[in-house]
Amino acid sequence: MSYSDTILGRLREKRPSLWINPGAGQAPEAAKPAIDIAAAEDRLDRAQPLLAKLFSRSAAGRLTHSPLVAADALGAALGASNQMGRWLIKADHELPIAGSVKARGGFHEVLAYAERLAVEQGLVAPGAPLTTLASPEARELFSRHSVVVGSTGNLGLSIGLISAALGFRAIVHMSSDAKEWKKQRLRDHGVVVIEHAGDYANAVAQGRREAEADPSSHFVDDEYSLDLFVGYAAAARELAAQLAEQNIAVDAQHPLFVYIPCGVGGAPGGIAFGLKQLFGDHVHCVFAEPAASPCMMVQMIAGDEPMSVYSLGLDNRTEADGLAVGQASLLVAPLMRTRLAGVYTLTDDQMFSLLGSAEQALGMTVEPSAAAGMAGPLMMTQSAAGRAYVAARGLGPLVAGAVHVVWTTGGSLVPAAEYQKFLDRARKTPTNLDFGDA
Ligand SMILES: *Cc1c(COP(=O)(O)O)cnc(C)c1O
Repeated sequence: MSYSDTILGRLREKRPSLWINPGAGQAPEAAKPAIDIAAAEDRLDRAQPLLAKLFSRSAAGRLTHSPLVAADALGAALGASNQMGRWLIKADHELPIAGSVKARGGFHEVLAYAERLAVEQGLVAPGAPLTTLASPEARELFSRHSVVVGSTGNLGLSIGLISAALGFRAIVHMSSDAKEWKKQRLRDHGVVVIEHAGDYANAVAQGRREAEADPSSHFVDDEYSLDLFVGYAAAARELAAQLAEQNIAVDAQHPLFVYIPCGVGGAPGGIAFGLKQLFGDHVHCVFAEPAASPCMMVQMIAGDEPMSVYSLGLDNRTEADGLAVGQASLLVAPLMRTRLAGVYTLTDDQMFSLLGSAEQALGMTVEPSAAAGMAGPLMMTQSAAGRAYVAARGLGPLVAGAVHVVWTTGGSLVPAAEYQKFLDRARKTPTNLDFGDA
């Protein structure tokens, strides 16, 4: 085998690749510190009337809930046979207000901070409904505090919008290449946007320094925050309830495969952590990353020592701005050691092609980052590595009855003109979605 056929060789050459996690399926170590998903679920429950009030929405629908929709038409458009199992989409791109998966972790983190402040001041009793966080007293309290975050875009949108709505001073540090419309939308809502040269890690470091110098300031730490992580993890129960409602079994005879685009790792890591708690060996969680930014794959391969994509000579330049991260979270990577089935990479061209297929087959508006998961069922059933994973677990005969859930993580708020550019690129890009050799 030549070097270019090893996984690191393939990564350096930006060839789409599937890496299977050798620790997949081993007994998980207990997480330290303990990860309390139930508390996050409870907080999000108590926050729904507050969120409806803050964003003038009907209190009937949850503002942190997305649909689970049939997507066999997408599978057919991508050339999948019906022997590959059923395709579903968990449509987080439709999450209201923030328009991305970041609504889950981001809203939860800011609500948790606001609740702590309000409880300290006696404005709300622990465990009580959070509607009083919209009272004049609470707003006055929050106006004396700031919430700070560094972001490639969507986390900034989520944190900025909820923080501003609660009355916090909201400050979002962004890399200068973050999308202009995201910066504008934040500024329109009274959020301070500070731009930085360099990549996302730079914006985060700057935000962290500034916030740590100020005791009335809360820094949302995309790399290490447990409040973000559990907010994402709470999505697992939501998916389980939707599968049950649709009479879709997940058990030893009916494996569930879930494909989630991965940036720093918090969102996909939290969701995978929650799903493993609920479904154990019956769920197989696979992350998707851009070929230029496979930070979680690189970190999982490296083990305990931090390792970035730059050390492989990759440039971390991708149109999938939600996934343009050079170094994975060192909180999340160890938690994935036994819980993650694998990680695959794909090119920007392939993401655009998938984005175009989602539009054509399903009429869905997703951003390039959010299209990355759509290659997952092909990767796991076509590629040599995927077929080996399936065979090693005796899943071969079960694949036809399997369920593939593709997590579409963002896109419904992309302005029409911007989205048209994505579609134009999709149309112009002849793309190979044959992952046989990956
Ligand atoms: C942030 C984001 C992700 C990945 O989440 P991480 O927590 O950074 O791993 C995926 N898709 C979209 C659209 C995102 O904004």
